[in-house]
Amino acid sequence: MHSISIKDILTRKPLGEKIEIKGWLKTRRDSKDFSFLEINDGSCLANIQVIAASALKNYQDTVLHLHTGCSLLVQGVLNESPAKGQEVELHADLLEVYGWAEPDKYPLQKKRHSFEFLRSIAHLRPRTNSIGAITRIRSSLSFGVHKFFQERGFVQVHTPIITTSDCEGAGEMFRVSIPLHSDMEKQNESAPVGDFFGKPANLTVSGQLQAEVYALALGKVYTFGPTFRAENSNTSRHLAEFWMIEPEMAFCDLAENMTLAESFLKYLIGYVLENNKDDIQLFAKFIDKELFKKLKAVLNNPFARTTYSDAVAILEKSGKVFDFPVRWGVDFQAEHEQFLCEEVFNGPVFVTDYPREIKPFYMRLNNDNQTVAAMDLLLPGIGEIIGGSQREERYDFLVSRMKELNLDLEEYSWYLDLRNFGTVPHSGFGLGFERFLQFITSMNNIRDVIPFPRTPGSASY
Ligand code: ATP
Ligand code: MN
Repeated sequence: MHSISIKDILTRKPLGEKIEIKGWLKTRRDSKDFSFLEINDGSCLANIQVIAASALKNYQDTVLHLHTGCSLLVQGVLNESPAKGQEVELHADLLEVYGWAEPDKYPLQKKRHSFEFLRSIAHLRPRTNSIGAITRIRSSLSFGVHKFFQERGFVQVHTPIITTSDCEGAGEMFRVSIPLHSDMEKQNESAPVGDFFGKPANLTVSGQLQAEVYALALGKVYTFGPTFRAENSNTSRHLAEFWMIEPEMAFCDLAENMTLAESFLKYLIGYVLENNKDDIQLFAKFIDKELFKKLKAVLNNPFARTTYSDAVAILEKSGKVFDFPVRWGVDFQAEHEQFLCEEVFNGPVFVTDYPREIKPFYMRLNNDNQTVAAMDLLLPGIGEIIGGSQREERYDFLVSRMKELNLDLEEYSWYLDLRNFGTVPHSGFGLGFERFLQFITSMNNIRDVIPFPRTPGSASY
């Protein structure tokens, strides 16, 4: 017999049909003539209720010994449920156990566990409602990201994970290096002939520079892949390994770049509200009572825009005392970002035109010679979710900036070539996928929106 998913059962409701399900037991409750079994198979948040009558031939020696966590196969007929809170129930006529889970050893009991505790059992936590829901939302959003770009004619580019260009200094890099032995030497394990890649290589901190190469040929491209930063920041917003989405567009200025970023975020919010309502509901119930309100407010209102200089003036005049005092020229800290979107603009805000000194070399210099065509998008409760810019497309400007920063022009000759041969104005941005998932779920810690978090001191599983 072919088994079907609980999601499928709850959508199609094949009443009166004999069906088969497979999943894990959440709870068992016994009454006089039967037991109620709540089973979940991960296909959706909802469980299915199974009625296991005492007439089942393995009722005494199996059903009455079932505990949270054991894996089951159940066959039976689907009926309308007389009970409140569920529409259907499955009347079992066959029940088999795949694997037991001893109640005094299985760490996931019915009570709610803290997210800290769940992190310590990352191999079992996907069986909880919350981590299961995040995982489904994550998968759906990932599909939504591709859908958004593909429907708009963007081409996905798989940029390398191992790079030898020191990219943009976007944070410390993880070195990838093993010695290269010649074939002869391999046998006797003698001294290496050199580095495997011929020069020091690292895990990528951003696919941007390579995405620019493809944007200047294919027009509109995007990347969506893992990114690595060896920053020793133990915050609830930073991971050593995270996923980033980076669109890059030729013939595109900063304003168009922001327009795309805004419609992208709104599309994704609309996408999960339409496709993952039940899972989002869980977070609205247990994590953030205002979640739907928050998401809809962002969906339905235009994002605010301010220049960096205006934002500094606002912060200076606010009278608020910050741990890190603000003045023109310093980068914003989380407290400033939060203040701007939560107290001043009451929603998402694009901050543009940052001082050139605090931004990477590739951002386009503005006419004031002080600022660059950068844009960061700040979200309430999150802070920076997107960092982007119009890129410097003028060869001379780019070279003089790189010289100021003592960058090796030879190393970047390929990047400079793009400005020598058919250069065009172009722009792009990077969106941190996990930070966006935090926004969508209101989850406080970024370690709970990625299956296996990597952070300083921790890369288990
Ligand atoms: P921050 O200042 O918050 O550390 P950043 O300026 O270094 O971020 P960018 O280089 O602009 O970040 O990267 C683009 C986006 O990637 C950020 O806006 C953020 O959403 C995400 N991001 C950056 N670093 C991390 C990290 N360590 N963990 C998770 N997401 C990150
Ligand atoms: Mn940034």
